Amino acid sequence: MTQRLTSSTSSIPARLKLLGFANYREYLDSEHWQEFRKKFFSKSAVCKNLRSKFGELRCQFCHKSAVLHLHHRTYKRLGAEHLSDVVLICADCHQKSHERHKLNPRNGLWSATNQVGRKKRKIRQAKARRLRLGVYARRKARRRTLREAAHEN
Ligand SMILES: [Zn+2]
Ligand SMILES: [Zn+2]
Repeated sequence: MTQRLTSSTSSIPARLKLLGFANYREYLDSEHWQEFRKKFFSKSAVCKNLRSKFGELRCQFCHKSAVLHLHHRTYKRLGAEHLSDVVLICADCHQKSHERHKLNPRNGLWSATNQVGRKKRKIRQAKARRLRLGVYARRKARRRTLREAAHEN
């Protein structure tokens, strides 16, 4: 990368043109992006935390073990991204982030993405709470009792 951009030309096509790329696909194939990915996977707090918690990389929103995408929360620093400009998420969380943004474009991609993250965290926390309270174990026991009762008839 010969050109280092720090200004914030926020529309993607203009920014890509400045950087000398014909399209986003070409950008993703660039040496810069490959280097950035490498840095993200080896140095970001996100990856360090996920690895120490799960022993592997998972979706940072829903914690699912899945194929993961590096999603840009903002394109304004394309070519000079901060590690925090991207999130490591599964296809489902990724799709939801873009959908949410499209539904209300005035709500930027950054906050749309964060809203999906918060929603998924709440779902995870509720599930963990139910686990702690033994809700699942009780349900399972009840199903077993019902099954046994059915057999006796
Ligand atoms: Zn996810
Ligand atoms: Zn994306």
